[in-house]
Amino acid sequence: MIFPQKHSATGTTIFTVMSALAQQCNAINLSQGFPDYPIDEQLGKLLFEATQQGFNQYAPMPGLPQLRQAISNDFAKRYGVEINPDTEITITPGATYAIYTAFTSVLEAGDEVIVLEPAYDSYIPNIETNGAKVVPVPLSAPDFSVDWNKVKDAITRKTKVIIVNTPHNPTGAIWSRQDWDTLADIVRDTNIIILSDEVYEQLVFDGKKHCSVLQHDELRKRSFVLYSFGKVFHNTGWKMGYCIAPSEFTIAFRRIHQFLCFSVNSPAQYALAQYLSLPQLPDVSRMMQQKRDLFLSLLKETPFIIHQPASGSYFQTVSYAQISDKPDMEFAQWLTKEHGVATIPISAFYSNKKDDKLIRFCFAKKEETLQQAIERLRKL
Ligand code: PMP
Ligand code: GLN
Repeated sequence: MIFPQKHSATGTTIFTVMSALAQQCNAINLSQGFPDYPIDEQLGKLLFEATQQGFNQYAPMPGLPQLRQAISNDFAKRYGVEINPDTEITITPGATYAIYTAFTSVLEAGDEVIVLEPAYDSYIPNIETNGAKVVPVPLSAPDFSVDWNKVKDAITRKTKVIIVNTPHNPTGAIWSRQDWDTLADIVRDTNIIILSDEVYEQLVFDGKKHCSVLQHDELRKRSFVLYSFGKVFHNTGWKMGYCIAPSEFTIAFRRIHQFLCFSVNSPAQYALAQYLSLPQLPDVSRMMQQKRDLFLSLLKETPFIIHQPASGSYFQTVSYAQISDKPDMEFAQWLTKEHGVATIPISAFYSNKKDDKLIRFCFAKKEETLQQAIERLRKL
C-alpha cells in the first residue's frame, strides 16, 4: 500500500520524540511544553460536577453558549474588545486543531503562506496538506524580531495568509503595537489573511502586556485568532481551545469544523465556562514569571548562554555553542541520555533544519523540578 505524502515533515513530531526519550532515559523532561504540577482543584471539581449535571452528550457545533459568552466577557474585561459570542467564537479541541481548521477554511492549491521561522512545528504540515506553498521568512537573532523588509519581499500575488505567533514559541519574543502597525501597512492593499496564534497570551512578563491582533481594529477584520485553554489553566491534556474571527471568517471556519469534529467535549466546556466566570482567577503571568526568574537565575550556574530572556510563553531558548559543536538534535539526545535533562533542538522549528546551536527549555515546572534539572546541568 502506498500512502500519499501530504506534507514534507518526515517521522514523528519532535515533542513526541523528546518526551519518549526522556521517559526511556528517566530524564527530567523540560522538552515538550506542559506543566508538571496539578491544575486548580476547583477546575477539576467543576469537570466532575459537569458529568453529574448531565453534560455528557454532544454540545452545540460552535460550542456551549455559556462558554462562548464567558470568553466574550473575559476579552471585554481584559482587552476592552467586543466579541460576538454567537458569530465570532468557535470552541475547538485545542489550538493545534484550530490552526489546521483555519488554514483549511481559506487555503487552495497554489496559495502561498508566509511563515516566520523558527515556527511551531504544525504550521508547515498543515499548509502543505492543503496543497499550499510555504514561504519561510527568518526572524532576526538574537532577539527574534521581524525583519519587515524580508516580509515585504516575500509577498507575491499568491500570498493568501501570514501566520503570526506572539508570545512566540520557541523564543519567548513578543510583538509590540508597532509590529502590528507595520504589518497593517504592508497588507493594507491586499487580501492577505492573518492567522494569529496567541496561545500564550496570558504568559507575558516584566510588566509588559500582550498585544493582541483583536485590539488592532484594522487587522482584526482579516484575522483568525487562535487560543488554548491548556496554556492558561495548566490542563494541556484537556485539549480545549477556541478560534475568534469576524463572522464571515467564522462561517468559513465552521464549514470545515462541523465535518471535522462536529463538536467539542461537553463536560470540559461546562467546567471551563463556570471557571472562567469566577470573580477572581489565579494570576498565571505572575506565577510563570516567578518560574522564569528562578530558571534564569539557576541557568547562570551552567555554561549555557542566554542571549535573550523570554518576554513571554513558558520557554527559554539558550545557546550551547560553548559546550559542544554537535548538531542540536544530537546535542539534545546526548543531554537527555548522558545528563538526564530533555530539551527541544531549535532546528526542529525550521523548514531547512537550520542549526544555530540552540535548544529550548520548558520552565512550566515545579520549583524542585527546575532545581533538580540545574543540579544535573551544573556538571556540564
Ligand atoms: N501554538 C503554539 C505556538 C503552541 O506552542 C501550542 C502548544 N501545543 C499550540 C499552538 C497548540 O495548543 P493545543 O495544545 O491547545 O493544541
Ligand atoms: N506546544 C508544546 C510545545 O511546544 C507542545 C506541543 C505538542 O506536543 N504538540 O512543546
